[in-house]
Amino acid sequence: MAEVVFDNVSKTFPGDVRAVDRVSLHIRDREFLVLVGPSGCGKTTSLRMIAGLEEPTAGTIRIGDRVVNDVAPKDRDIAMVFQNYALYPHMTVYKNLAFGLMMRRRHGGWGNPLFALLAPGRYRLARQERQEIEHRVRETATMLGLDGLLSRRPRALSGGERQRVALGRAIVREPKAFLFDEPLSNLDAKLRVEMRAELKQLHRRIQTTTVYVTHDQEEAMTLGDRVVVMKDGMIHQCGSPFEVYERPVNRFVAGFMGMPPMNFLDGRIVRRDDRLVFEDGVCRLSISPAHSHRLAGLVDEPIVLGIRPEVLRLASDAPPDSSLRVTVRVVEPLGDRMDVHGETAQGHTIVCRTDARTDIREDESIDLQVDMNRVHFFECQDPGRNLSLPVTGS
Ligand code: ATP
Repeated sequence: MAEVVFDNVSKTFPGDVRAVDRVSLHIRDREFLVLVGPSGCGKTTSLRMIAGLEEPTAGTIRIGDRVVNDVAPKDRDIAMVFQNYALYPHMTVYKNLAFGLMMRRRHGGWGNPLFALLAPGRYRLARQERQEIEHRVRETATMLGLDGLLSRRPRALSGGERQRVALGRAIVREPKAFLFDEPLSNLDAKLRVEMRAELKQLHRRIQTTTVYVTHDQEEAMTLGDRVVVMKDGMIHQCGSPFEVYERPVNRFVAGFMGMPPMNFLDGRIVRRDDRLVFEDGVCRLSISPAHSHRLAGLVDEPIVLGIRPEVLRLASDAPPDSSLRVTVRVVEPLGDRMDVHGETAQGHTIVCRTDARTDIREDESIDLQVDMNRVHFFECQDPGRNLSLPVTGS
């Protein structure tokens, strides 16, 4: 087991494509770290650089106490699990699991009876090694519920079983770190949720440093001890799932993490009597004292208000200075809850997540009460810094 450290790492592909841009990151020993971001943000390239499949153009990568920039992939002692499983189709599950270990064995000749006579020492060591491999394979198979499938070939397995074999092949090697590249994206939604829970339990049991790449923010939040949100080759935020969701550092992170995404309204802050108010031309929302304190210097400045769908509540009795009037355009029932897409008088779409038993009809006009203590305010200019977070020393 080992920590993995990126120190100012960049990767530029021919054609001046900067896939990874000055990334510094400390992945702790035994941690489950998830790299998440939209397509092309550089997450796979980062993972491949840890594996040694891509070479950094600048900076250093360290695994444990060894800088690995010049170390061949096979000597890095890490295991990678891909989206497409990459199993050997002609081998049984047992052989797929054992193959990596067989390739690394130091003693040959176990299968040849002549060795028992001519080189009994070597024969004994080879047999012992073979028994160890068998023990590791069976132990891993039991851990993953594959005992009954060891003699099958991959084509006779379901998608979930194949993914378990791919996992098993990584685990059996007892590497210093696991690298996962979107390993669940070929599975159907239900199986993905099941495998997600299995992966989490597995990590708790084997406690190996894990770096996991996904574009799915829900997968990132449910799996990661920490989540790294990337865009354009750069890290925008690294923190616990709670931190990146509740305290996004900028508008990009706020909009990427969470489904349905955060609602954004363009407007400005104005002073009304002794209070600060957010106005967008139609609505007026009274800013809470905690936020007012941080926003006092931005009166009359344009600003973006961010409201998560769950921070809105249907309320006919809501005070006008904390509610938005919208016309219901779409109602999406989701079983226990419901997403209501409304349109403001300004023509902005606002999504509210509410109880499924609420009786709402399309084209109806409704009031949504905003919990103004839980909203965010962002700068208008890129990257849209979150102005409602407490200022920390840099
Ligand atoms: P996805 O989720 O679509 O796999 P990603 O976040 O993993 O995206 P990368 O695969 O790391 O992104 O790619 C980052 C950028 O580098 C993209 O613009 C991509 O087109 C580019 N890129 C990746 N590999 C190469 C390559 N071998 N040659 C040139 N450009 C590349």
